[in-house]
Amino acid sequence: MPELPEVETIRVQLEPLLVGRRLEGVEIRDPRLTQPLDPAAVARALEGERVGSLDRRGKYLIVRFESGRSLLMHLRMTGNLRVTPRGAAAEHPHERAVVRLDDGADVSYRDVRRFGTWLLVDDEELESYLAERIGSEPLESSFGRAALAKRLTGRRAPIKAALLDQRTVAGLGNIYADEALWRARIHPLRPARELDAPEIARLHRGVRDALRMGISRQGATLSNYATPDGERGGMQDEFRAYGRAGEPCPRCGTPIEKIRAAGRGTWYCPRCQCLG
Ligand code: ZN
Repeated sequence: MPELPEVETIRVQLEPLLVGRRLEGVEIRDPRLTQPLDPAAVARALEGERVGSLDRRGKYLIVRFESGRSLLMHLRMTGNLRVTPRGAAAEHPHERAVVRLDDGADVSYRDVRRFGTWLLVDDEELESYLAERIGSEPLESSFGRAALAKRLTGRRAPIKAALLDQRTVAGLGNIYADEALWRARIHPLRPARELDAPEIARLHRGVRDALRMGISRQGATLSNYATPDGERGGMQDEFRAYGRAGEPCPRCGTPIEKIRAAGRGTWYCPRCQCLG
């Protein structure tokens, strides 16, 4: 599943191709993409819109139109976007939508598992929709240690589960939560409310460093994720803990262990990240 760095990589790649373009034709083939709204009605509403900017919040891509409306896209597990010259892309069995741009390019949206969503919202709806679902942007200056501490106060849940909750920090998923906890030397099963100030400071830095590393390597290339231009991100070569069961911890050499936390496979160093 694409996380913040993967979605940011997609945003950066698509931005110059989409901004300023008018949507000439929109075909939505999978009603699940826009449910409960009628896909044909959404397609008609999108036609004629001109893209003002392409933004991201957490794992959401936000296509902001000059009209003030926005298309909020969530790729979930397997959604991906490609931009090709018109007619160049072969028909694809998992193509759920195609958008024809006014410069002769096609944007095709593919999604094998079909969990992705497209939601067309007005200006006012956008902020309230996001505010209900996601917390601070971890790489913005508004996300400080105090903000993170506040989000963890009183929570019995293991810190891994708290980090996966998008209202704690927007955009973290299984990979970057494990990488952030390894960097912070915090056991994934520690109750969130028990973290002390130095640990929260380390976690705050760990979250940012893991995400920045992911963005600098253009995300991780795992089986289900592809960037719009088909290039492969390199973050998987930088994993310190995630997916590395049995391999030596890069800090202390102890074999990385795999457990389950928050219902997810979770990798950590039993020595650096001891339960205390
Ligand atoms: Zn270690």
